[in-house]
Amino acid sequence: MNQLSNEYLNKVIEDSKPYAVNGRVNTELPNFDETLRDKLGVSIITSEQNHYTAGDSSHKVPMQSTSKIIALMLALQDFGKERVFQAVGMEPTGEMFNSISALESHDDIKPFNPMVNAGAIAVCSLIKGGNNDNRFERYLHFLRDLTNNPTLEMDEKVYQAEIANGARNRSLAYFMQSTGALITDVEEALDLYFRINAVMMCCDDFARAGLFLARGGIAPGGDEKLIPPHHLRTVKAIMMTSGMYNSSGQYAVEAGFPCKSGVSGSIIGAVPGRMGIGVVGPAIDKKGNSTAGGALIKKLSKDLKLNMFRTE
Ligand code: GLU
Repeated sequence: MNQLSNEYLNKVIEDSKPYAVNGRVNTELPNFDETLRDKLGVSIITSEQNHYTAGDSSHKVPMQSTSKIIALMLALQDFGKERVFQAVGMEPTGEMFNSISALESHDDIKPFNPMVNAGAIAVCSLIKGGNNDNRFERYLHFLRDLTNNPTLEMDEKVYQAEIANGARNRSLAYFMQSTGALITDVEEALDLYFRINAVMMCCDDFARAGLFLARGGIAPGGDEKLIPPHHLRTVKAIMMTSGMYNSSGQYAVEAGFPCKSGVSGSIIGAVPGRMGIGVVGPAIDKKGNSTAGGALIKKLSKDLKLNMFRTE
């Protein structure tokens, strides 16, 4: 078995980088252009708090869809599992993350799960706070606590780009308004969704978020549980079945631990009891997953025996 070390991670970065040629950089995001294609970073923090990094591990990108798991944790705390899953389903879609047809085709006409855009917008309407400044403040506070990084911030340019490019998300949200799925004002639910997509993080932050999930809701460096274990169980199960867009089945087989990706090329991995993994590799495939980052996650799983379903 390979030994986890910075040297080992450097080698994994070199082996995984070539996969970036198969991807495309999401140029809808501010400051995202072809020069980012070759960026690839990884950070791993073990449950013993050992920290390993390689590549472009301090390069910051917007959270994009990785924010969906943080929003889900907050909504579960605020309203409980039963209420949250009245608003959204628990099933993988097999469709793109922003699919309009998937929204209407669910038996109960609700989003398939909290990891697709419609589901996350519905989840955003289940975050308490009275107004969006307070709701976002709670989100950021929780994120800063669970990553133990008080400097995390939203990027105004990314937020404005989410608003400008948000026609599809608006159509999903207005459809849900028509079915009564949103309990806040539709524009407020959308605005919160746009804001949480725009918070900037690097591999170290993504790894700390993964470790938080892997270590039973205890923030790195702390010993207090910030969320009850039964909610974490729900979040990790949803990550496993739906966290990697419509490649989630493939990742369940090839990686075998809960992961969540975003179209900025970010991935949060949570290996229960063992480690948090943060990856950034901005070239993404058609489904939205980092091509080099995905290859890297699968290689780590194989080399370090991280697959929860392994038989040897
Ligand atoms: N911000 C984009 C959207 O809402 C992408 C989210 C993602 O990472 O899937 O469509």
